[in-house]
Amino acid sequence: MFLKPLLVPVALALHLSWVQAQQYPDHHDHQAILNSQNNQPEETTAAQSTKRVAIIGAGAAGSSAAYHLRQYANAAGIPMNISIFEKNGYIGGRSTTVWAYDDPDANEPVELGASIFVEVNHILMKAVEDFDLPIKGFFGGEKTGKSTRRSDDEAHAMGIWNGEEIVFKIKDSMSWTDYGKLFWRYGLAPLKARSLMKEVVGKFEKMYDEPVFPWKSLSNVVYQLGLSPAVTGVTGEEYLKEKGIGELFSREIIQASTRVNYAQNLNAIHGVETMVCMATDGAMAIAGGNWRIFTSMAHAATPHTSIHLNTTVLSITREADGTYTLTTTTSKPSSSSPSSSVLTTTTSIFDILILAAPLQFTNLTIHPSPRLHTPSAIPYVHLHVTLFTTPYLLSPLAFNLPPTTPVPQTLLTTLQPSESPGSGPAGVGEAGFFSISVLREVENRGTGGREYLYKIFSPHRVEDEFLSSILGRDISSESEVVDPATEEEETPEPEAQARHRRAKTGQTKSRKPISWLHRHAWHSYPYETPRTVFDEAQLDDDFWYTAGIEGFISTMETSALMGKNVARLVVDGWEAEGMGGSGGDGYGDGGRVEREKDKEAKTEL
Ligand SMILES: Cc1cc2nc3c(=O)[nH]c(=O)nc-3n(C[C@H](O)[C@H](O)[C@H](O)COP(=O)(O)OP(=O)(O)OC[C@H]3O[C@@H](n4cnc5c(N)ncnc54)[C@H](O)[C@@H]3O)c2cc1C
Repeated sequence: MFLKPLLVPVALALHLSWVQAQQYPDHHDHQAILNSQNNQPEETTAAQSTKRVAIIGAGAAGSSAAYHLRQYANAAGIPMNISIFEKNGYIGGRSTTVWAYDDPDANEPVELGASIFVEVNHILMKAVEDFDLPIKGFFGGEKTGKSTRRSDDEAHAMGIWNGEEIVFKIKDSMSWTDYGKLFWRYGLAPLKARSLMKEVVGKFEKMYDEPVFPWKSLSNVVYQLGLSPAVTGVTGEEYLKEKGIGELFSREIIQASTRVNYAQNLNAIHGVETMVCMATDGAMAIAGGNWRIFTSMAHAATPHTSIHLNTTVLSITREADGTYTLTTTTSKPSSSSPSSSVLTTTTSIFDILILAAPLQFTNLTIHPSPRLHTPSAIPYVHLHVTLFTTPYLLSPLAFNLPPTTPVPQTLLTTLQPSESPGSGPAGVGEAGFFSISVLREVENRGTGGREYLYKIFSPHRVEDEFLSSILGRDISSESEVVDPATEEEETPEPEAQARHRRAKTGQTKSRKPISWLHRHAWHSYPYETPRTVFDEAQLDDDFWYTAGIEGFISTMETSALMGKNVARLVVDGWEAEGMGGSGGDGYGDGGRVEREKDKEAKTEL
């Protein structure tokens, strides 16, 4: 009966957190969606009463804002044109996938950014249902791809490394002995931490419903819910200590989770974000990529919504009549030379603006300055994500294990008891990285062999030297000679012995130690330092902002929630001005035509 709470560390392992999404192939679907987009500017000469909305950014927040605006405006009978401007060539922002070997036909795509969401993510869960998107569970659910698990009984799914030793390991499924070990090591801390997490998440969930929803001021609502200053105003370390959660469990398990999820230690990250890291029940991902939620949302806002990809908003000017002029530049491949691009600059006028990206990364000029609030430039983590394929598993020697002991396929990290590294990237400490995961086996079509697909989260660029050390071999050699008879073996063979074997058999072939490597550095999420004041949702009359929520919680769900919140506030404002109430959706036909088109658009997806 009390077993479930003990699954907290298992959940931690299985969420393998934001690192282990293994997706179904869906490249063609993605392309089809992009190709179906209307990339022409929406008519802005419609009737005076038709509201013109610009959304800057097509990540979770912008797509959700468009989707919910359309729903609320239709329900209120208010006609509206939406233009979504996105500087990237895709929808999803920090939720995007790539293909191993850059080969869409060979393997499933892999998440480069946001990898998982959980069952308390109500907006994403509803989108999964509404758009009938295929999900892949990480918590007792379906698994895809061939398992990388060794048959060896000693193989562990997850371990926690502190730069000196692996302090905790668990297997795929916990046995009674494992539960015994857990109690022995951490006492009741896992149980207590779980009930604390539920209490905090329960308060947060009130933000979805009336009378709290929609909220104008995040600072006020977080205060009213009792989350600030008690939980957001203190570090995770202070909060856990105050609540009587044991230091060992906090350092080894909870901190491993705050590091893999937010690249931050417990002495830096605030209490709410710490608890979010423990809310892993029902972790899942969308087959083919989580971005599919956001393309579905953006397209469901059609018709009367245009999506302008490869289009950067350069400037916003508030005019004397209260409208906003946007200057945008669109990049298109040149017809004469496809390798170069042509830039087209356009200006358009809007009644409402929703800025759905952290202001500090938009390079926007805003004139004059917003009158109600200007978002602060809060520091963001500069996270290096490294994906690579190799025929080799991690070297036990690199993690101070005996040569024949397999290394857990996911390594999270924590600090040593005596370590107190500085803040920012230095916070990584002796471990040197936040996580390393063997995601799955993949097929290398170049060699026809099976290889391992890895993901590393680190505060610095991963260099060859580091890869050589974790794989236990020099990866800088262009290719290496191997004996086919031994190439499937997982424990590195001593070099002298290998040379002898090769000389004896005379049968060798070459393969690359690293066959594919993809690096990406993100401004991934803010440094979630304790705070009680958050950026406001309203910057000026008819000018809204979503990214303030990231200083509170930074996830796909919370960005989507902020997009929905802003959409509700906008439509409430129109209704307060006396708009709508015509009985239809405001387009003069009682909504029939638009609803039919909406239905068709959804069917296409
Ligand atoms: C490596 C990594 C792992 C993560 N893991 C998870 C996870 O497992 N689960 C989870 O829930 N969250 C995770 N997150 C966090 C999550 O990705 C973000 O919180 C969320 O996606 C933010 O969405 P957003 O719409 O607010 O911002 P963004 O996704 O950043 O969207 C903003 C968009 O605005 C566009 N833009 C910016 N400036 C302009 C301009 N001037 N003109 C036009 N367009 C512009 C950008 O191109 C971008 O597409 C992770 C993030 C990273 C980087």
